[in-house]
Amino acid sequence: MSRVMIEPASYDNIRKSVDRAFELFPADLSGKKVLIKPNVLRTAKPEEGITTHPALLEAVVEKVDSLGAGEIVVGDNPGMIDYGDNEKSFEKSGLMKAAKSCYRNMGTSSRKVGFNPDYMPTVSVSEDVLDADFFISLPKFKTHGLTVITGAIKNSYGILPGAIKAHLHKAAGSPQRFHELLVDVFRLRIPDLIIMDAVVGMEGNGPASTELRDIGQVLASDNAVAMDSVVSSMMGLDPGKLRFLQKAKQEGLGDYDPQSIKCIGEIKTFTDYHIPPLGGEANINNSAIQELIGNKTLLVPKVDADLCTSCENCIEHCPVGALDMGEDDIPVADSELCITCFCCQELCPEKAITLQ
Ligand code: SF4
Ligand code: SF4
Repeated sequence: MSRVMIEPASYDNIRKSVDRAFELFPADLSGKKVLIKPNVLRTAKPEEGITTHPALLEAVVEKVDSLGAGEIVVGDNPGMIDYGDNEKSFEKSGLMKAAKSCYRNMGTSSRKVGFNPDYMPTVSVSEDVLDADFFISLPKFKTHGLTVITGAIKNSYGILPGAIKAHLHKAAGSPQRFHELLVDVFRLRIPDLIIMDAVVGMEGNGPASTELRDIGQVLASDNAVAMDSVVSSMMGLDPGKLRFLQKAKQEGLGDYDPQSIKCIGEIKTFTDYHIPPLGGEANINNSAIQELIGNKTLLVPKVDADLCTSCENCIEHCPVGALDMGEDDIPVADSELCITCFCCQELCPEKAITLQ
């Protein structure tokens, strides 16, 4: 039976929860190379709740150091294409300082490994991930327009450097297939320990929405499927309806059934949690709604002209070149080309894009 720790926490006393996580999931780290991967979606300040909070990262780095790790690497692959964004994203989010000289730009060296030929025969994975003796994932408690929640399994999408993430979005081509592909990426290097920042959570049009909510907890587990099941339940969702959890269970990676999970601590369920409008768990298994989502003429990104600063970030990062600068320097999407990957919405620094 998988176990998930659910501990009350604030950013001021988060060390207590990290200590508890290592008590419940002890690890012999002596002399080992330990990779710690926060969720660094893009450049954002800690208080925006888009990235893992630096207080959690700092506490984990100090704990791992105290356990005698031989080498500690802190890294992620934020954004989609520009490797230079890596340092910038760590600096702005406060994670560079929290990494205590252990930061490394994981995007600069990678190795090809075999992948699911339905999408691509091989993919590149950051070498620091492949070479780690122990992999600690630090996801954030958030919603996601495409995958409904972005928790333990989705955090592993960042083991892929640079443009490969965009190519895979394109290869998936539909929300359903992207859910399945996520699991294939996750299993390339399964994390040994997951500690989630659920002190402040995100709801609404995640993973970069403005709607934040105090959850006041830190979660920990050595099984990502169990952890994401608990996160789904906390958001008032049925974990069994999420395609990526179904696929992970089919692949023997864990069980989302609440009966098969031992919670150490109390699950808070938010019955009024705002989930993304088109990503609701009921919609994922509803073929009529999936067909609607797949209909490129019906769902396209819309840019709020009052918020857009014409930075062109969305245009540069669209994996299929569906966005172009329109009149008044506001990007416009070509509905025939758009594959509804939500990347532009994720990466817009002004939160000016919604899929409508
Ligand atoms: S990324 Fe956002 S702010 Fe920049 S051009 Fe696109 S919509 Fe406008
Ligand atoms: S326009 Fe946005 S949602 Fe559509 S394919 Fe490009 S990045 Fe993805």
